[in-house]
Amino acid sequence: MSDFKKVLIANRGEIARRIIRTCKRLSIPTVAVYSEADASALFVKEANEAVLIGPAPVKKSYLDIDSIIAAAKDTGADAIHPGYGFLAENSTFAERCTQEGITFIGPKAAVIRLMGDKIEARKQMKAAGIAIVPGACGALTSIDEAKKVAGEIGYPIMLKASAGGGGIGMQIVYNDQELEKAFESTAQRAGSYFGDDTLFLEKYISSPRHIEVQLAGDEFGNIVHLWERECSIQRRNQKIIEEAPSPFLDPAAREALCAAAVKGAASIGYTSVGTMEFIVDEQGNYYFLEMNTRIQVEHPVTEEITGIDLVEWQLNIASGKPLDQEVLPSNPLGHAIECRVYAEDPRTFMPSPGKIDTLTLPVGVRLEFAVAEGDQVTPFYDPMIGKVITHGTDRQDAIQKMKEALKQCQVSGIKNNLPLLESIMDDSAFQAGIYTTKFVETLLKG
Ligand code: ADP
Ligand code: ADP
Ligand code: MG
Repeated sequence: MSDFKKVLIANRGEIARRIIRTCKRLSIPTVAVYSEADASALFVKEANEAVLIGPAPVKKSYLDIDSIIAAAKDTGADAIHPGYGFLAENSTFAERCTQEGITFIGPKAAVIRLMGDKIEARKQMKAAGIAIVPGACGALTSIDEAKKVAGEIGYPIMLKASAGGGGIGMQIVYNDQELEKAFESTAQRAGSYFGDDTLFLEKYISSPRHIEVQLAGDEFGNIVHLWERECSIQRRNQKIIEEAPSPFLDPAAREALCAAAVKGAASIGYTSVGTMEFIVDEQGNYYFLEMNTRIQVEHPVTEEITGIDLVEWQLNIASGKPLDQEVLPSNPLGHAIECRVYAEDPRTFMPSPGKIDTLTLPVGVRLEFAVAEGDQVTPFYDPMIGKVITHGTDRQDAIQKMKEALKQCQVSGIKNNLPLLESIMDDSAFQAGIYTTKFVETLLKG
Protein backbone atom coordinates (compact mmCIF):
# COMPACT_ATOMS: atom_id res chain seq x y z
CA MET A 1 0.00 0.00 0.00
CA SER A 2 1.24 3.46 -0.80
CA ASP A 3 0.91 6.20 1.80
CA PHE A 4 -0.87 8.77 -0.35
CA LYS A 5 -4.11 10.27 0.93
CA LYS A 6 -5.36 11.39 -2.47
CA VAL A 7 -3.87 11.23 -5.96
CA LEU A 8 -4.57 13.80 -8.68
CA ILE A 9 -4.19 12.57 -12.24
CA ALA A 10 -2.79 15.26 -14.54
CA ASN A 11 -3.89 13.51 -17.72
CA ARG A 12 -6.91 12.28 -19.63
CA GLY A 13 -8.22 9.36 -21.65
CA GLU A 14 -7.24 5.74 -21.23
CA ILE A 15 -4.19 6.37 -19.07
CA ALA A 16 -6.23 8.45 -16.60
CA ARG A 17 -8.70 5.54 -16.35
CA ARG A 18 -5.83 3.08 -15.94
CA ILE A 19 -4.35 5.05 -13.02
CA ILE A 20 -7.77 5.48 -11.37
CA ARG A 21 -8.29 1.71 -11.55
CA THR A 22 -5.13 0.93 -9.58
CA CYS A 23 -5.85 3.70 -7.06
CA LYS A 24 -9.35 2.25 -6.50
CA ARG A 25 -7.92 -1.19 -5.90
CA LEU A 26 -5.53 0.31 -3.35
CA SER A 27 -8.33 2.41 -1.77
CA ILE A 28 -6.65 5.69 -2.67
CA PRO A 29 -9.14 8.46 -3.56
CA THR A 30 -8.54 10.15 -6.94
CA VAL A 31 -9.02 13.56 -8.48
CA ALA A 32 -9.42 13.98 -12.24
CA VAL A 33 -8.67 17.28 -13.94
CA TYR A 34 -10.36 17.89 -17.26
CA SER A 35 -10.86 20.37 -20.06
CA GLU A 36 -14.23 21.58 -21.35
CA ALA A 37 -13.90 19.10 -24.23
CA ASP A 38 -13.71 16.20 -21.76
CA ALA A 39 -16.60 17.19 -19.47
CA SER A 40 -18.49 13.94 -20.13
CA ALA A 41 -15.46 11.63 -20.53
CA LEU A 42 -15.30 8.28 -18.73
CA PHE A 43 -12.23 9.16 -16.67
CA VAL A 44 -14.02 12.21 -15.26
CA LYS A 45 -16.95 10.06 -14.11
CA GLU A 46 -14.70 7.38 -12.64
CA ALA A 47 -12.55 9.59 -10.42
CA ASN A 48 -13.82 10.37 -6.92
CA GLU A 49 -13.60 14.09 -7.64
CA ALA A 50 -13.13 16.10 -10.84
CA VAL A 51 -11.95 19.65 -11.41
CA LEU A 52 -12.47 21.64 -14.61
CA ILE A 53 -9.14 23.27 -15.45
CA GLY A 54 -9.83 25.11 -18.69
CA PRO A 55 -10.85 25.04 -22.33
CA ALA A 56 -9.90 22.34 -24.84
CA PRO A 57 -6.49 23.59 -26.09
CA VAL A 58 -3.77 21.79 -24.13
CA LYS A 59 -1.87 24.95 -23.21
CA LYS A 60 -4.97 26.19 -21.42
CA SER A 61 -5.76 22.93 -19.65
CA TYR A 62 -3.60 19.81 -19.54
CA LEU A 63 -0.37 21.81 -19.82
CA ASP A 64 -1.47 24.60 -17.48
CA ILE A 65 0.74 23.98 -14.45
CA ASP A 66 -0.82 26.69 -12.26
CA SER A 67 -4.36 25.37 -12.74
CA ILE A 68 -3.32 21.80 -12.03
CA ILE A 69 -1.42 22.73 -8.87
CA ALA A 70 -4.41 24.82 -7.74
CA ALA A 71 -6.72 21.84 -8.31
CA ALA A 72 -4.43 19.65 -6.19
CA LYS A 73 -4.39 22.19 -3.37
CA ASP A 74 -8.15 22.77 -3.47
CA THR A 75 -8.90 19.06 -3.26
CA GLY A 76 -6.15 18.19 -0.78
CA ALA A 77 -4.32 15.83 -3.15
CA ASP A 78 -0.85 15.01 -1.81
CA ALA A 79 0.48 13.38 -4.98
CA ILE A 80 0.17 13.91 -8.74
CA HIS A 81 0.42 11.18 -11.35
CA PRO A 82 1.28 12.71 -14.74
CA GLY A 83 0.52 9.68 -16.96
CA TYR A 84 2.32 9.91 -20.34
CA GLY A 85 2.61 12.84 -22.73
CA PHE A 86 1.50 16.30 -21.46
CA LEU A 87 3.53 17.14 -18.31
CA ALA A 88 4.93 13.66 -17.70
CA GLU A 89 8.44 14.59 -18.85
CA ASN A 90 8.35 18.24 -17.84
CA SER A 91 11.03 18.77 -15.18
CA THR A 92 9.69 22.24 -14.32
CA PHE A 93 6.38 20.66 -13.39
CA ALA A 94 8.07 17.97 -11.30
CA GLU A 95 10.05 20.66 -9.47
CA ARG A 96 6.98 22.78 -8.91
CA CYS A 97 5.14 19.83 -7.34
CA THR A 98 8.02 19.35 -4.92
CA GLN A 99 8.08 23.06 -4.04
CA GLU A 100 4.37 22.92 -3.30
CA GLY A 101 4.80 19.90 -1.02
CA ILE A 102 3.08 17.56 -3.47
CA THR A 103 4.73 14.28 -4.48
CA PHE A 104 5.37 14.00 -8.22
CA ILE A 105 4.86 10.33 -9.11
CA GLY A 106 7.90 9.89 -11.30
CA PRO A 107 11.67 10.22 -11.20
CA LYS A 108 13.65 13.19 -9.86
CA ALA A 109 13.32 16.45 -11.79
CA ALA A 110 17.06 16.48 -12.59
CA VAL A 111 16.85 13.00 -14.14
CA ILE A 112 13.77 13.95 -16.19
CA ARG A 113 15.66 17.01 -17.48
CA LEU A 114 18.78 15.02 -18.35
CA MET A 115 16.93 12.25 -20.23
CA GLY A 116 14.45 14.66 -21.84
CA ASP A 117 17.34 16.22 -23.70
CA LYS A 118 18.29 13.55 -26.23
CA ILE A 119 21.73 15.08 -26.80
CA GLU A 120 22.56 15.02 -23.09
CA ALA A 121 21.06 11.53 -22.73
CA ARG A 122 23.31 10.24 -25.53
CA LYS A 123 26.40 11.73 -23.84
CA GLN A 124 25.41 10.24 -20.49
CA MET A 125 24.83 6.73 -21.89
CA LYS A 126 28.03 6.83 -23.90
CA ALA A 127 29.92 7.73 -20.72
CA ALA A 128 28.19 4.82 -18.96
CA GLY A 129 29.66 2.48 -21.59
CA ILE A 130 26.49 1.85 -23.59
CA ALA A 131 26.56 1.90 -27.38
CA ILE A 132 24.70 4.90 -28.83
CA VAL A 133 23.66 5.36 -32.45
CA PRO A 134 26.73 6.79 -34.25
CA GLY A 135 26.31 10.49 -34.88
CA ALA A 136 26.87 14.02 -33.63
CA CYS A 137 27.34 14.24 -29.90
CA GLY A 138 26.35 17.88 -29.66
CA ALA A 139 23.71 20.31 -30.90
CA LEU A 140 23.99 21.33 -34.55
CA THR A 141 24.46 25.07 -34.79
CA SER A 142 24.26 25.49 -38.58
CA ILE A 143 23.41 23.74 -41.83
CA ASP A 144 27.11 23.68 -42.71
CA GLU A 145 27.96 21.91 -39.49
CA ALA A 146 25.14 19.43 -40.12
CA LYS A 147 26.52 18.72 -43.61
CA LYS A 148 29.99 18.19 -42.20
CA VAL A 149 28.79 15.70 -39.57
CA ALA A 150 26.56 13.93 -42.10
CA GLY A 151 29.54 13.64 -44.45
CA GLU A 152 31.61 12.06 -41.69
CA ILE A 153 29.05 9.42 -40.64
CA GLY A 154 27.65 8.92 -44.15
CA TYR A 155 24.07 9.15 -45.48
CA PRO A 156 21.34 8.24 -44.82
CA ILE A 157 21.05 10.05 -41.52
CA MET A 158 18.23 10.80 -39.11
CA LEU A 159 17.84 14.46 -38.21
CA LYS A 160 16.21 14.80 -34.81
CA ALA A 161 14.86 17.33 -32.35
CA SER A 162 16.69 17.01 -29.05
CA ALA A 163 13.37 17.59 -27.22
CA GLY A 164 11.32 15.37 -29.55
CA GLY A 165 8.78 12.69 -28.69
CA GLY A 166 5.78 10.76 -30.04
CA GLY A 167 7.56 10.28 -33.38
CA ILE A 168 7.42 14.04 -34.00
CA GLY A 169 10.46 16.10 -34.99
CA MET A 170 12.54 13.61 -36.94
CA GLN A 171 13.36 13.19 -40.58
CA ILE A 172 15.37 10.71 -42.64
CA VAL A 173 17.80 12.52 -44.93
CA TYR A 174 19.60 10.97 -47.92
CA ASN A 175 21.86 13.77 -49.21
CA ASP A 176 23.16 17.32 -48.68
CA GLN A 177 20.39 18.90 -50.72
CA GLU A 178 17.67 17.23 -48.67
CA LEU A 179 19.50 18.15 -45.49
CA GLU A 180 19.22 21.86 -46.27
CA LYS A 181 15.44 21.63 -46.53
CA ALA A 182 15.03 19.19 -43.65
CA PHE A 183 17.19 21.27 -41.30
CA GLU A 184 14.84 24.23 -41.50
CA SER A 185 11.56 22.32 -41.49
CA THR A 186 12.58 20.02 -38.61
CA ALA A 187 13.82 22.95 -36.51
CA GLN A 188 10.59 24.79 -37.15
CA ARG A 189 8.45 21.80 -36.25
CA ALA A 190 10.49 21.15 -33.11
CA GLY A 191 10.18 24.79 -32.09
CA SER A 192 6.41 24.79 -32.42
CA TYR A 193 5.82 21.37 -30.83
CA PHE A 194 8.41 21.35 -28.06
CA GLY A 195 9.38 25.02 -27.65
CA ASP A 196 12.97 24.05 -28.43
CA ASP A 197 14.45 23.89 -31.93
CA THR A 198 17.75 22.24 -30.97
CA LEU A 199 18.68 19.54 -33.50
CA PHE A 200 21.21 16.71 -33.67
CA LEU A 201 21.76 13.96 -36.16
CA GLU A 202 22.62 10.31 -36.05
CA LYS A 203 23.16 7.48 -38.49
CA TYR A 204 19.95 6.09 -39.99
CA ILE A 205 19.94 2.41 -39.13
CA SER A 206 18.33 0.61 -42.05
CA SER A 207 15.81 -2.18 -41.43
CA PRO A 208 16.08 -1.98 -37.66
CA ARG A 209 13.98 -3.20 -34.82
CA HIS A 210 12.84 -1.04 -31.93
CA ILE A 211 13.29 -3.00 -28.72
CA GLU A 212 12.95 -1.35 -25.32
CA VAL A 213 13.57 -2.44 -21.76
CA GLN A 214 11.18 -1.77 -18.88
CA LEU A 215 13.05 -0.63 -15.79
CA ALA A 216 12.18 0.22 -12.23
CA GLY A 217 14.36 1.80 -9.56
CA ASP A 218 13.69 2.74 -5.94
CA GLU A 219 15.08 5.31 -3.49
CA PHE A 220 17.43 2.69 -2.06
CA GLY A 221 19.47 2.22 -5.21
CA ASN A 222 17.78 -1.01 -6.32
CA ILE A 223 17.25 -1.18 -10.08
CA VAL A 224 15.57 -4.05 -11.90
CA HIS A 225 14.48 -4.75 -15.44
CA LEU A 226 11.15 -6.34 -16.35
CA TRP A 227 12.41 -7.63 -19.71
CA GLU A 228 11.87 -6.08 -23.07
CA ARG A 229 9.08 -5.05 -25.41
CA GLU A 230 9.26 -5.40 -29.16
CA CYS A 231 7.85 -2.21 -30.73
CA SER A 232 8.89 -2.37 -34.38
CA ILE A 233 5.37 -2.26 -35.81
CA GLN A 234 5.13 1.49 -36.35
CA ARG A 235 3.76 4.16 -38.63
CA ARG A 236 4.96 7.79 -38.57
CA ASN A 237 7.82 6.60 -36.30
CA GLN A 238 5.24 5.80 -33.64
CA LYS A 239 4.29 2.35 -32.38
CA ILE A 240 0.94 0.73 -33.13
CA ILE A 241 1.58 -2.87 -32.03
CA GLU A 242 3.86 -3.97 -29.22
CA GLU A 243 4.66 -7.37 -27.82
CA ALA A 244 6.61 -8.95 -24.99
CA PRO A 245 8.95 -10.71 -25.08
CA SER A 246 10.60 -9.81 -28.41
CA PRO A 247 10.57 -12.70 -30.91
CA PHE A 248 13.97 -11.43 -32.14
CA LEU A 249 16.02 -12.03 -28.99
CA ASP A 250 17.46 -15.31 -27.81
CA PRO A 251 18.07 -15.69 -24.06
CA ALA A 252 21.70 -14.50 -24.27
CA ALA A 253 20.83 -11.40 -26.32
CA ARG A 254 17.94 -10.67 -23.96
CA GLU A 255 20.19 -10.84 -20.94
CA ALA A 256 22.81 -8.58 -22.55
CA LEU A 257 20.27 -5.94 -23.59
CA CYS A 258 18.51 -5.91 -20.22
CA ALA A 259 21.85 -5.71 -18.39
CA ALA A 260 22.89 -2.72 -20.52
CA ALA A 261 19.62 -0.96 -19.69
CA VAL A 262 20.06 -1.57 -15.96
CA LYS A 263 23.62 -0.24 -16.18
CA GLY A 264 22.41 2.90 -17.96
CA ALA A 265 19.65 3.50 -15.41
CA ALA A 266 22.06 2.94 -12.53
CA SER A 267 24.45 5.55 -13.97
CA ILE A 268 21.80 8.22 -13.40
CA GLY A 269 20.44 6.86 -10.10
CA TYR A 270 17.08 6.23 -11.72
CA THR A 271 13.99 6.06 -9.49
CA SER A 272 10.42 5.17 -10.57
CA VAL A 273 9.49 3.11 -13.62
CA GLY A 274 11.06 4.07 -16.93
CA THR A 275 11.96 2.69 -20.32
CA MET A 276 15.24 2.57 -22.16
CA GLU A 277 14.68 2.39 -25.90
CA PHE A 278 17.17 0.73 -28.23
CA ILE A 279 17.43 0.40 -31.96
CA VAL A 280 18.73 -3.01 -33.03
CA ASP A 281 20.35 -3.53 -36.42
CA GLU A 282 20.11 -6.57 -38.68
CA GLN A 283 23.21 -8.09 -37.10
CA GLY A 284 21.70 -7.79 -33.63
CA ASN A 285 23.88 -4.87 -32.51
CA TYR A 286 21.90 -2.62 -30.20
CA TYR A 287 22.24 1.13 -29.74
CA PHE A 288 20.69 3.41 -27.12
CA LEU A 289 17.96 5.55 -28.68
CA GLU A 290 16.40 7.44 -25.77
CA MET A 291 14.98 7.02 -22.30
CA ASN A 292 11.34 7.71 -21.45
CA THR A 293 11.10 8.72 -17.80
CA ARG A 294 7.44 7.80 -17.37
CA ILE A 295 4.86 5.07 -17.73
CA GLN A 296 4.68 4.04 -21.37
CA VAL A 297 1.59 3.52 -23.56
CA GLU A 298 2.57 -0.13 -24.06
CA HIS A 299 3.18 -0.93 -20.36
CA PRO A 300 0.31 -3.50 -20.28
CA VAL A 301 2.27 -6.13 -22.24
CA THR A 302 4.95 -6.07 -19.54
CA GLU A 303 2.28 -6.32 -16.84
CA GLU A 304 0.85 -9.37 -18.59
CA ILE A 305 4.16 -11.24 -18.72
CA THR A 306 5.20 -10.35 -15.17
CA GLY A 307 1.93 -10.18 -13.23
CA ILE A 308 3.07 -6.79 -11.89
CA ASP A 309 0.95 -3.62 -11.74
CA LEU A 310 3.38 -0.94 -12.90
CA VAL A 311 1.17 1.92 -11.68
CA GLU A 312 1.22 0.36 -8.21
CA TRP A 313 5.01 0.17 -8.44
CA GLN A 314 5.11 3.87 -9.36
CA LEU A 315 2.96 4.71 -6.32
CA ASN A 316 5.07 2.56 -4.00
CA ILE A 317 8.38 3.95 -5.23
CA ALA A 318 7.11 7.54 -4.98
CA SER A 319 6.03 6.96 -1.40
CA GLY A 320 9.53 5.78 -0.52
CA LYS A 321 9.00 2.03 -0.41
CA PRO A 322 11.66 -0.44 -1.56
CA LEU A 323 11.00 -2.47 -4.72
CA ASP A 324 9.28 -5.75 -4.02
CA GLN A 325 11.67 -7.82 -6.13
CA GLU A 326 10.41 -11.11 -4.72
CA VAL A 327 7.24 -10.89 -6.82
CA LEU A 328 9.21 -10.80 -10.08
CA PRO A 329 8.95 -14.16 -11.88
CA SER A 330 12.24 -15.75 -12.90
CA ASN A 331 11.17 -15.87 -16.55
CA PRO A 332 8.57 -14.03 -18.66
CA LEU A 333 5.15 -15.62 -18.25
CA GLY A 334 3.92 -16.51 -21.74
CA HIS A 335 3.50 -13.85 -24.39
CA ALA A 336 1.50 -10.62 -24.64
CA ILE A 337 0.49 -8.38 -27.54
CA GLU A 338 -1.04 -4.91 -27.58
CA CYS A 339 -2.83 -3.25 -30.50
CA ARG A 340 -3.39 0.50 -30.37
CA VAL A 341 -6.69 1.55 -31.92
CA TYR A 342 -6.47 5.01 -33.48
CA ALA A 343 -9.09 7.31 -34.97
CA GLU A 344 -7.10 7.81 -38.13
CA ASP A 345 -7.15 7.31 -41.85
CA PRO A 346 -5.72 3.81 -42.35
CA ARG A 347 -3.76 4.85 -45.45
CA THR A 348 -2.45 8.35 -44.68
CA PHE A 349 -2.33 7.81 -40.88
CA MET A 350 -3.69 11.29 -40.40
CA PRO A 351 -5.96 11.76 -37.35
CA SER A 352 -9.65 11.41 -38.14
CA PRO A 353 -11.64 13.08 -35.38
CA GLY A 354 -15.42 12.81 -35.14
CA LYS A 355 -18.27 11.21 -33.22
CA ILE A 356 -18.09 7.52 -32.34
CA ASP A 357 -21.55 6.35 -33.38
CA THR A 358 -21.19 2.76 -32.27
CA LEU A 359 -18.49 0.88 -30.43
CA THR A 360 -18.43 -2.87 -29.91
CA LEU A 361 -15.56 -4.16 -27.81
CA PRO A 362 -14.34 -7.74 -27.56
CA VAL A 363 -14.89 -9.82 -24.44
CA GLY A 364 -12.41 -11.98 -22.58
CA VAL A 365 -9.36 -9.82 -23.28
CA ARG A 366 -7.75 -6.86 -21.54
CA LEU A 367 -9.07 -3.52 -22.77
CA GLU A 368 -7.76 -0.02 -22.07
CA PHE A 369 -10.23 2.28 -23.79
CA ALA A 370 -10.76 6.00 -23.38
CA VAL A 371 -14.14 6.33 -25.00
CA ALA A 372 -17.75 5.14 -25.03
CA GLU A 373 -20.40 5.16 -27.74
CA GLY A 374 -21.49 8.69 -28.58
CA ASP A 375 -18.19 10.27 -27.47
CA GLN A 376 -16.35 12.73 -29.67
CA VAL A 377 -12.74 12.19 -30.68
CA THR A 378 -11.57 15.80 -30.75
CA PRO A 379 -8.73 17.22 -32.83
CA PHE A 380 -7.19 18.65 -29.66
CA TYR A 381 -5.62 15.47 -28.33
CA ASP A 382 -3.90 12.26 -29.34
CA PRO A 383 -6.26 10.24 -31.62
CA MET A 384 -5.66 6.93 -29.84
CA ILE A 385 -9.05 5.69 -28.62
CA GLY A 386 -7.91 2.57 -26.88
CA LYS A 387 -5.80 -0.56 -26.71
CA VAL A 388 -6.60 -4.26 -26.96
CA ILE A 389 -4.22 -6.55 -25.07
CA THR A 390 -4.05 -10.34 -25.29
CA HIS A 391 -1.98 -12.76 -23.24
CA GLY A 392 -1.23 -16.28 -24.37
CA THR A 393 0.76 -19.30 -23.33
CA ASP A 394 3.05 -18.52 -26.27
CA ARG A 395 3.27 -16.04 -29.16
CA GLN A 396 1.02 -18.03 -31.45
CA ASP A 397 -1.66 -18.25 -28.79
CA ALA A 398 -1.47 -14.48 -28.14
CA ILE A 399 -1.78 -13.80 -31.90
CA GLN A 400 -4.75 -16.13 -32.22
CA LYS A 401 -6.50 -14.42 -29.31
CA MET A 402 -5.78 -11.02 -30.84
CA LYS A 403 -7.24 -12.09 -34.18
CA GLU A 404 -10.45 -13.17 -32.49
CA ALA A 405 -10.59 -10.01 -30.39
CA LEU A 406 -10.06 -7.69 -33.37
CA LYS A 407 -12.80 -9.50 -35.26
CA GLN A 408 -15.24 -8.67 -32.47
CA CYS A 409 -14.08 -5.07 -32.28
CA GLN A 410 -16.22 -2.61 -34.23
CA VAL A 411 -16.14 1.15 -34.40
CA SER A 412 -18.38 3.26 -36.58
CA GLY A 413 -18.58 7.00 -37.21
CA ILE A 414 -14.84 7.61 -37.43
CA LYS A 415 -12.10 6.28 -39.65
CA ASN A 416 -9.93 3.88 -37.71
CA ASN A 417 -6.99 1.52 -38.05
CA LEU A 418 -8.76 -1.74 -37.09
CA PRO A 419 -8.54 -3.15 -40.64
CA LEU A 420 -4.79 -2.46 -40.66
CA LEU A 421 -4.32 -4.14 -37.28
CA GLU A 422 -6.20 -7.19 -38.55
CA SER A 423 -4.15 -7.41 -41.72
CA ILE A 424 -0.97 -7.29 -39.65
CA MET A 425 -2.16 -10.19 -37.47
CA ASP A 426 -2.91 -12.15 -40.67
CA ASP A 427 0.48 -11.47 -42.24
CA SER A 428 2.82 -14.45 -42.50
CA ALA A 429 6.00 -12.44 -41.81
CA PHE A 430 4.42 -10.99 -38.69
CA GLN A 431 3.31 -14.45 -37.63
CA ALA A 432 6.85 -15.72 -38.12
CA GLY A 433 8.20 -12.84 -36.01
CA ILE A 434 10.34 -11.64 -38.90
CA TYR A 435 9.81 -7.91 -39.22
CA THR A 436 11.45 -4.50 -38.86
CA THR A 437 10.24 -0.90 -38.42
CA LYS A 438 9.67 -0.90 -42.20
CA PHE A 439 6.93 -3.52 -41.85
CA VAL A 440 3.81 -1.34 -42.17
CA GLU A 441 5.19 0.59 -45.14
CA THR A 442 6.02 -2.65 -46.95
CA LEU A 443 2.65 -4.21 -46.12
CA LEU A 444 0.76 -1.24 -47.59
CA LYS A 445 2.85 -1.24 -50.75
CA GLY A 446 2.33 -4.94 -51.29
P1 ADP B 1 5.32 5.62 -25.92
O1 ADP B 1 6.58 6.44 -26.00
O2 ADP B 1 4.75 5.52 -24.55
O3 ADP B 1 5.42 4.33 -26.62
P2 ADP B 1 4.10 7.52 -27.76
O4 ADP B 1 5.36 7.79 -28.49
O5 ADP B 1 2.89 7.17 -28.54
O6 ADP B 1 4.19 6.36 -26.71
O7 ADP B 1 3.80 8.77 -26.83
C1 ADP B 1 2.76 8.76 -25.91
C2 ADP B 1 2.06 10.08 -25.84
O8 ADP B 1 2.91 11.09 -25.38
C3 ADP B 1 1.55 10.57 -27.20
O9 ADP B 1 0.35 11.27 -26.97
C4 ADP B 1 2.64 11.50 -27.66
O10 ADP B 1 2.16 12.46 -28.55
C5 ADP B 1 3.08 12.10 -26.34
N1 ADP B 1 4.48 12.49 -26.26
C6 ADP B 1 5.54 11.65 -26.20
N2 ADP B 1 6.70 12.36 -26.09
C7 ADP B 1 6.35 13.66 -26.03
C8 ADP B 1 7.09 14.88 -25.90
N3 ADP B 1 8.42 14.93 -25.80
N4 ADP B 1 6.39 16.03 -25.88
C9 ADP B 1 5.06 16.01 -25.98
N5 ADP B 1 4.31 14.90 -26.11
C10 ADP B 1 4.94 13.74 -26.13
P1 ADP C 1 10.54 9.58 -30.07
O1 ADP C 1 11.12 10.38 -28.95
O2 ADP C 1 9.69 10.36 -30.97
O3 ADP C 1 9.93 8.32 -29.56
P2 ADP C 1 12.80 7.96 -30.94
O4 ADP C 1 14.18 8.49 -30.98
O5 ADP C 1 12.46 7.05 -29.84
O6 ADP C 1 11.80 9.18 -30.95
O7 ADP C 1 12.49 7.27 -32.34
C1 ADP C 1 11.19 6.87 -32.72
C2 ADP C 1 11.27 5.84 -33.84
O8 ADP C 1 11.92 6.39 -34.99
C3 ADP C 1 12.07 4.60 -33.50
O9 ADP C 1 11.31 3.65 -32.82
C4 ADP C 1 12.53 4.12 -34.88
O10 ADP C 1 11.51 3.42 -35.53
C5 ADP C 1 12.76 5.43 -35.60
N1 ADP C 1 14.17 5.84 -35.48
C6 ADP C 1 14.67 6.71 -34.59
N2 ADP C 1 16.00 6.88 -34.75
C7 ADP C 1 16.36 6.07 -35.75
C8 ADP C 1 17.61 5.80 -36.41
N3 ADP C 1 18.75 6.39 -36.04
N4 ADP C 1 17.61 4.91 -37.43
C9 ADP C 1 16.47 4.31 -37.83
N5 ADP C 1 15.28 4.54 -37.27
C10 ADP C 1 15.21 5.41 -36.24
MG1 MG D 1 10.93 6.91 -28.49
